Amino acid sequence: MNLVLFGPPGAGKGTQAKLLTEARGLPQLSTGDMLRAAIAAGTELGLNAKAIMDRGNLVSDDIVIGIIAARLDRPDAANGAVFDGFPRTIAQAEALDRLLESRGQKIDRAIELKVNDEALIRRSESRVKEMLATGQTPRTDDTPETLRNRLGVYYKNTAPLIAYYRNQGKLKTVDGMAAIPEVARSIAAVIEGRA
Ligand code: ADP
Repeated sequence: MNLVLFGPPGAGKGTQAKLLTEARGLPQLSTGDMLRAAIAAGTELGLNAKAIMDRGNLVSDDIVIGIIAARLDRPDAANGAVFDGFPRTIAQAEALDRLLESRGQKIDRAIELKVNDEALIRRSESRVKEMLATGQTPRTDDTPETLRNRLGVYYKNTAPLIAYYRNQGKLKTVDGMAAIPEVARSIAAVIEGRA
């Protein structure tokens, strides 16, 4: 099974993707994590991506599509995956459909996590505070200005995926404002065809 999880920054995609990986053994394919790993490894790709990510803008479609294409060739993705933070543009969604089709697969469900903007900003602020309090380093793109830009980028570039997947009959919207286990239960209901 291939699932797309999408929603604005801070909607809880990463948290839910991890739970799905534990519950269903599907690998979590997070382009954000892969790009941060490239930055940490100091690769040329990472160096180029860092400046873009720190401003909250999108890394080019070609780069993230290339990363995902390579990742899909690893054996653990042979039976499906949870796509977290990818696709983020219509071009990426079309490329993903082609990549899966060439492997005899398809997207089964696209789950939109719906949350409100003020809650997102509060979540991001408390995530930063919590990390600082526990001696961790917050993400460099979790500043209030960058978050505002990331939200704008989401509505402009990623929200069109709602119509894209609705037209394919694959869209399900889940209330991302509920508590983590409850969101997980709603997603499970979607996957099991109960919602
Ligand atoms: P969030 O969903 O909280 O914004 P991510 O970890 O998914 O966090 O993404 C962090 C940043 O990485 C994005 O703001 C963007 O710069 C870059 N990025 C991640 N995935 C993509 C993608 N599919 N296309 C373009 N840029 C991406």
